Amino acid sequence: MQAKILEVKKEFQQNLSDLQSSKDVEQLKVQFLGKKGPVQSLMSCLRDVTPEERPMVGKWINDLKEEIALLCDQALSTFFQAEQAVRLEEEKIDITLPGRRRFIGKKHPITLLRDEVLEILIGMGFSVQYGPDIDSDYYNYEGLNFPPDHPARDMQDTFYLSPDALLRSHTSNTQLRVMESHKPPIRIAAPGTVYRNETISARSHVFFHQVEGLYVDEDVSFADLLATMEEFLSKLFHARVQTRFRPSYFPFVEPGMEVDVLCTSCQGNGCRLCKHTGWLEILGAGMVHPEVLKNGGIDPDCYSGYAWGMGLERLAMLRYGIKDIRMFTENDVRFLSQF
Ligand SMILES: [Zn+2]
Repeated sequence: MQAKILEVKKEFQQNLSDLQSSKDVEQLKVQFLGKKGPVQSLMSCLRDVTPEERPMVGKWINDLKEEIALLCDQALSTFFQAEQAVRLEEEKIDITLPGRRRFIGKKHPITLLRDEVLEILIGMGFSVQYGPDIDSDYYNYEGLNFPPDHPARDMQDTFYLSPDALLRSHTSNTQLRVMESHKPPIRIAAPGTVYRNETISARSHVFFHQVEGLYVDEDVSFADLLATMEEFLSKLFHARVQTRFRPSYFPFVEPGMEVDVLCTSCQGNGCRLCKHTGWLEILGAGMVHPEVLKNGGIDPDCYSGYAWGMGLERLAMLRYGIKDIRMFTENDVRFLSQF
């Protein structure tokens, strides 16, 4: 019996030294201590041992059983530690690595400029009003003193949706609506998108953005208009700018003019930005035509007013030295992220 026991022990030890993982140890433990294992068959051999020797042999078998269990537990613990170390190494996350940076959107340059213009005008006492993008011929043209066959309509090629509905060609369509619903003093700024049926090129587009200003009150004079333009443009260019007023024609104002500022790039000496004229055309303006006041329900004998309009794309192109108006609508992130 002793020889048999030693043989089982030796076999176990050989097996144990070949093991590779904790799983192998568990299998080996079941293999040796299980019901069909060698230790169990030693137990059944106890029957053949003499009653005198039985306690002693029983103890040997029990000792073997305990030894196998102990060695298995030790091996398990060793493998567990090694396996855990490997797993921890494999699943390691370096939390000191910086994360991927998320792309954060920004305001479009036209939006930035519009906000800036409106902030200046609000500071000067103007309130913001919005007109519709789709409007009738009356609010866009006829009520603003463009008679049906007036050649001035050709100045602004229009997208007609029906004989009477159109995409507004200027933000001036807000003027009459405000006059109809408000009593003077009226002091408003009207920003918005405008549409022209033009060939798209570096200098012109089928849609762009304007901000319109309108002031109607008693005794509003041409001098008030000039002073307001000087003040507004100085705030916009963050410096006292030199202005130049040139007579011009718009049907809804009389007299009408265009306002230039001394080129901010060359101070009037002539450069590419000002096309070597020394001046930058910034906006159109004038005293509100008496017919327009009448159409808005305001008595031109008691009230007068001025209005002006400016293109935001043009202003942005001048300010940032942008050569092509199409850049604003191409959604190129490399361009947009610069503002
Ligand atoms: Zn210049």
